[in-house]
Amino acid sequence: MKFAVTSKGDAKSNALMHKMRTYLQDFNLGYDEDQPDIVVSIGGDGTLLYAFHRYKNRLDKTAFVGVHTGHLGFYADWTPEEIEKLVIALAKTPFQVVEYPLLEVIVRYQHGGRESRFLALNESTVKSVEGTLVMDVEISGQHFETFRGDGLCLSTPSGSTAYNKALGGAIIHPSFDAIQLAEMASINNRVFRTVGSPLLLPAHHTCMLRPVNNVNFQITIDHLSLLHEDVKLMQFRVADEKIRFARFRRFPFWKRVHDSFIAE
Ligand code: NAP
Ligand code: MN
Repeated sequence: MKFAVTSKGDAKSNALMHKMRTYLQDFNLGYDEDQPDIVVSIGGDGTLLYAFHRYKNRLDKTAFVGVHTGHLGFYADWTPEEIEKLVIALAKTPFQVVEYPLLEVIVRYQHGGRESRFLALNESTVKSVEGTLVMDVEISGQHFETFRGDGLCLSTPSGSTAYNKALGGAIIHPSFDAIQLAEMASINNRVFRTVGSPLLLPAHHTCMLRPVNNVNFQITIDHLSLLHEDVKLMQFRVADEKIRFARFRRFPFWKRVHDSFIAE
C-alpha cells in the first residue's frame, strides 16, 4: 500500500506530516505522492478540500483521512495525539471505507459547444460579477422560479455544515445521495418571487441555472473561485463519483455536528 501526506503548511502541521511519513515508512508502507492508495491530510477541513482536488482524478483508487491541527473538523476528525493509533490502523490493511456523495457541476458556454465539468466536495456557488444575479432555475426540466438576489449555493451533504449552513440550509447526513440548493439574499416582493426555502434534490434530479440578463459569473467550486464568461447554462446534480474516507473508528456524523457546533 502506498501513501501520501498533505499539510496545511504551518509549522505544527508540517512537523506532524514528517512524523507521520516516518512512522508509516517504519511500518513498510511506501511513499507515493502521485499515486497513493491513502492520503493523510493534516491541517483542517480546508486542507482536505485541497487534497481532494489534488487527487480527484483517482477517487476510485485513493481513500482519505484527515487529522486536525486546529479545531475539530468534519473531514479532519483525528487529533494529533491519535496519530500513533492511526498509523497502526493504517498499516493493518485492509481498512473499512465510507463513501460520501459529491456534486457535479457542468458549465456550458455561448459559443462552440464548449463545456467545463467540475466536482465539488463542499459546494458550488454562483454570483454575478456586477449587479443582482438573475437566473431562471429549472428543476428536472421544469421551470421552477426566476431567482433575483446575491447568489445561489449548491452543496453536498458533507458540505451542508459549511457555507450552506451559514445560508440557513439544513444539515444533511452524508448517507443521503442528494444535493441542496440554498438562496443568498433573494429579492422577494409583489413582483419577484422565489420559494425562499432550501431545496433538497435526490440523485438524478438536475438543477439547471439559465442566465437572464448577464453572461459573466463568479463560480466557486469549494475553495476555488473562477470568472466564467459567455455562460449559457450551469447544470448541477449528484455526481456518479464518490469520495472515499478510510474509517478506523466510530465517530458518527451527528456527534461531529454536536462537537463542532454545540460543545466538545
Ligand atoms: P476558509 O475561509 O478557511 O473556510 C471557512 C471555514 O469553513 C473554515 O473554518 C473551514 O474549516 C470550514 N469548513 C470547510 N469545510 C467545512 C465543512 N464541510 N463543514 C464545516 N466546516 C467546514 O476556506 P477553506 O478552508 O479553503 O474552505 C473553503 C470553504 O469555506 C468553502 O467550501 C465554503 O464552504 C466555506 N465558506 C463559508 C462561508 C460562510 O460560511 N459564509 C463563506 C465562504 C466560504 P477549517 O478551518 O478546518 O479549514
Ligand atoms: Mn481553512
